[in-house]
Formats: sequence, C-alpha cells, structure tokens
Amino acid sequence: MKPKELLNRKIGTIPPSGIRKFFDLANAMEGVISLGVGEPDFDTPWHIREEAIYAIEKGRTFYSANAGLPQLRQEICRYLKRRFHLEYQWESQIIVTVGGSEAIDIALRALLDPGDEVIVLSPGYVAYEPCVRLAGGVPVIIELKEEDQFKLKKEQLRQALSEKTKAILINFPGNPTGGVMTREDYAEIVPLIRDAGIAVLTDEIYAELTYSGQHCSIAEFEEIHDQVMLISGFSKAWSMTGWRLGYIAAHPDLITAMNKIHQYAIMCAPTISQVAGMEAMAHGDSDVQMMKESFERRRNFIVNGLNRIGLTCPMPQGAFYVFPSIRHTGLSSDEFCEQLLAKEKVAVVPGSAFGISGEGFVRISYAYSIEEIKAALQRIEHFLKEL
Ligand code: PMP
Repeated sequence: MKPKELLNRKIGTIPPSGIRKFFDLANAMEGVISLGVGEPDFDTPWHIREEAIYAIEKGRTFYSANAGLPQLRQEICRYLKRRFHLEYQWESQIIVTVGGSEAIDIALRALLDPGDEVIVLSPGYVAYEPCVRLAGGVPVIIELKEEDQFKLKKEQLRQALSEKTKAILINFPGNPTGGVMTREDYAEIVPLIRDAGIAVLTDEIYAELTYSGQHCSIAEFEEIHDQVMLISGFSKAWSMTGWRLGYIAAHPDLITAMNKIHQYAIMCAPTISQVAGMEAMAHGDSDVQMMKESFERRRNFIVNGLNRIGLTCPMPQGAFYVFPSIRHTGLSSDEFCEQLLAKEKVAVVPGSAFGISGEGFVRISYAYSIEEIKAALQRIEHFLKEL
C-alpha cells in the first residue's frame, strides 16, 4: 500500500499555493527585496500585546465558549455597528474564528452539498477555489476586468448564476487587485442576489483599508441581509496576522450550523488572542487610522513610481496591493517574476497565482517601508530597461 492511495480524490485536484512556491525560492536567495507577502509590516500595537500578556499573567489560559468570549462577541457587534451601521446580536449571530481563514472554511462546509456551485471572482484570494473544492463544491469563475476596475458587474453575475448556484464569494477591497465596490455598484447586483436566493460570503478583511470614501458592506442591504455571511478578522486592520483571530457574522440559523463544525473541528479560537482582540476593537481606532494613513502614503508612492518607470498601474482604492499589467513586456506573469527575481532579486507574485484572469499582471504588496519600495522600484526599472 502506498500512503498516497489513502488520500481522497478532492485533495489531488488542489495545487499548492502559487505564492508559497515562489517565496520558498526567494527565501533561499540572499539580498532579495520581497514585496510579496500579504501582511502588514507593523508590530501589533503595544497596548494590545500588553493585554495579552496580562491575560497570561492572570491565567486566562483555558478554552472559551465555542463561539468566543462573550465580551469579544459584544465588542465585535459594537464595532460593526459603529463602523459599518450593521446590526448583529452577539449571542446568536457571531462566531469568533481562527482568522478569517477558518470563517471561509466553516461557511462553505456548512452550506455546500456535493456538486453545489459557488461563484468565485478571479483574480481572487488564493484560498477561495481550494476551499470550495475541499467543501465538495464546484467553483464557477467570473473573470473580473481591469477596465471595470476589477468590480463585479451585473451582467457577469447573471451569466454565472445557474440552478446549482448555492453561494457567491466576494472580497472588496480585494486581494490581489485592491478593487472596491461602492454602494451604487452593489445596488446593481443586489436584486439579482435577492431573486436567486443564494448565500453571499463577503470577505471584508480589508474594510478598514479603504482609501477614498467609506467602506460599504453588502450586508448593509436590508433585502439580502439574511443571506449574507460577513467574514472579517484582526490580521490586516490591527496587524495581528500571527494571533489567528477572525469572525463571521450571519443569520442565527447559519451561525448555529457553522458552530457545529467550529466546535468539533476547532473548539474555540485561542483565548489569549481573543483578549487581545477585545482591546484592539475597544481602544485601537487610532492605531488603525495611523496604519491606514501610512499605507495610503506608500500606495501613492509606489503607484507614481511604477507609472514613471513604465509599468502602467491604476490607483487601487483599497487593501495594500497594486496589480500592474506586465503584458507589454511579452513575458508571462510567471516568467516576469522568475526573471525579476533571478536578475534583480526582487520578489513579487505572478498574477497567475490568483486564478486564470490574473495572467498578464503581477501583485506587488506595499506593506513595506518606503526605503524598501524605493530600492525595489530602482531594481524593477533596471530590469525593464534590460528587457
Ligand atoms: N481573506 C483575504 C482576502 C486575505 O488576503 C487573507 C490573508 N492574506 C485572509 C482572508 C486570511 O486572513 P486571516 O486568516 O489571517 O484572518
């Protein structure tokens, strides 16, 4: 018997992450400037870390309620109301999860029967398609267009819907494009979603990093509120990637179902991280604001720089990624990134890692210092001249 033969059929269809593969290569080299990884470069604000230290000192080292510490769930509800005018009941409508990642997984596992279709946007976050497949679903891809600023359009949604559609997974502000949807953009697609009666998994983990105007959540639309499962977390806004803390807010019936998966597979999110999360939401507004302003400065700097050196790049309205087209170089996105790494020691991510319509683009994260961005831009400029 070969151990491989023990594996289920689904797992064989899942490729390893295109980001990780590339960065293992970059990590093995010296002197590389990496603008690759999707996480803020700030330390978690000290008052948040301090609360976690106190939690350990006070012996808060036990399981919490499955759905999370009541105080944290209350804090999340207050936050969602304060920031996005969203009403949720803490006892019945929130589960605290191990990052937004777990929230995506339990939502899909609670919803899908084998063969159910889930509409996934491409280019999109690398985990979506694999998570749909692992939950027994079939991803149906909508190819977002650069000329639409990578927004979801009504006609595209209409064409993707079928009898088998169970859900759509959306992410605005988006990874890797930085695309956002305004209230007017959502208003176009909401009637279709209402009539189709499908679930909307909305990953709003970059909500705080919206640079022009206020973030609009699709959960704000009353007529589909009960269909929407709002996924978010602490990784990006409070720079807490390693704490593994997120949450999902949804109708009580959906929460009850997801909590079954969560309680048997996970038990609860780490209690110490939950205490830190309470502090983040209660007293972290100025940190969020400071980090956002810093990201905005870096965004302006990198977009101007890229356009100056000949990589045409629109100004993304959210998250901390730029997604310039590299088509004019004649290279595929994989070739571009491999050659840029080999010749100039700059690591960025091929757009192809984010799905079929990412080809022809590269994702550059600007969650790095201005000095690093400046040095990387010089190297990219040299690379382009030599091509
Ligand atoms: N959603 C998106 C769009 C992301 O970019 C990420 C992290 N890169 C996640 C979810 C997962 O975040 P976490 O599990 O750390 O909350």
